Amino acid sequence: ITDKIAALPPNANYFSLEFFPPKTQQGFANLHARLSRMAQALRPLFVNITWGAGGSTSAKSLALAELTQRSLQLTTCLHLTCTNMSRKLVDEALEQAKVLGVRNILALRGDPPRSEEYRDPTNPLAEEDDSNKDFTWAVDLVRYIKKQYGDYFCVGVAGYPEGHSDQSHPEHQSVDHDLPYLVEKTKAGADFIMTQLFYDVEAYQRYEQQLREHESGAFKTIPIIPGLMPVQSYQILRRTTKLSHASLPPAVLERLEAVKGDDEAVKRVGVDILGEIIEDMKGVKSPGPRGFHFYTLNLEKVVTQILERSSLTPPATAAVDPDEGHNVSDQAV
Ligand code: FAD
Repeated sequence: ITDKIAALPPNANYFSLEFFPPKTQQGFANLHARLSRMAQALRPLFVNITWGAGGSTSAKSLALAELTQRSLQLTTCLHLTCTNMSRKLVDEALEQAKVLGVRNILALRGDPPRSEEYRDPTNPLAEEDDSNKDFTWAVDLVRYIKKQYGDYFCVGVAGYPEGHSDQSHPEHQSVDHDLPYLVEKTKAGADFIMTQLFYDVEAYQRYEQQLREHESGAFKTIPIIPGLMPVQSYQILRRTTKLSHASLPPAVLERLEAVKGDDEAVKRVGVDILGEIIEDMKGVKSPGPRGFHFYTLNLEKVVTQILERSSLTPPATAAVDPDEGHNVSDQAV
């Protein structure tokens, strides 16, 4: 990924698309067809495949990575979490990724399964658990991958423009709290940073500026790829922003609330909003090409419209999934 970014002109824009492995064979077949169209029509710089915390989707994530990397020849970034993962499972995932030709890993801690009480790893009285004592934080996974594989894998890590929170920390953690750990991840060898979704461009700008100017110098030139989630529905938007602590600026919320009873209108307004965010972001100074990462939720139509509106992809060749209620363009079929 970093080689591909470095090969772009400095003022170029690029984008990546994220997919999760479907649960059923039918879902996989549908996604296969959709991915083939999107690969041809949209030509992302790379695609991401998510990983279920604790390895819950390991076989399915690897199968999807095989499809994107091998069959569709899309540069693939496999997510890998390390909490509640044995070293054996991590080793198997990395070996399998290598066999598939995947050269990029997003190294994450992951969240503890909901049913489990959080085990505080810094508490000496905490119950010993052999299955996950190798890895506590994402930085442990970054170090491990670099130790085992040198520079074979290009390693990305997560960043949080509006701070981080999860079920293990009742208190929301600020950017300032999280930053030393992001420095650690970068010093351990992370090659790029991919961010949590946001809708507040100003909050993102403050974050990126804080990173770029950080006294450690760790973030001067590293690619920082902002995460954007297209608006698929009002309910999904409210749920995901709540879970990720992404703020919704009042002007954004008002526009969506005005149409919240009409799903198609919500999507339309959402495309406008995302288009405006991208235009604003293109103006944010960056030491290299400016990228955008889209959390697609495995859907095609809205992200295609956003990419076209923002001139991130060539127009007129886009095909849209009939499952999503629109015609497939003859050209792309
Ligand atoms: P870490 O970097 O380990 O940080 C976790 C928290 O612990 C932070 O609050 C940090 O401040 C704190 N911390 C870090 N190191 C230390 C330390 N040494 N001492 C004390 N505190 C510390 N989850 C999935 O399950 N599957 C996915 O595919 C997935 N993809 C994601 C993609 C992106 C782009 C992002 C932003 C998140 C993704 N997540 C995914 C969610 C992620 O796993 C959770 O947000 C998780 O809670 C934190 O992971 P992390 O890698 O940021 O952890």
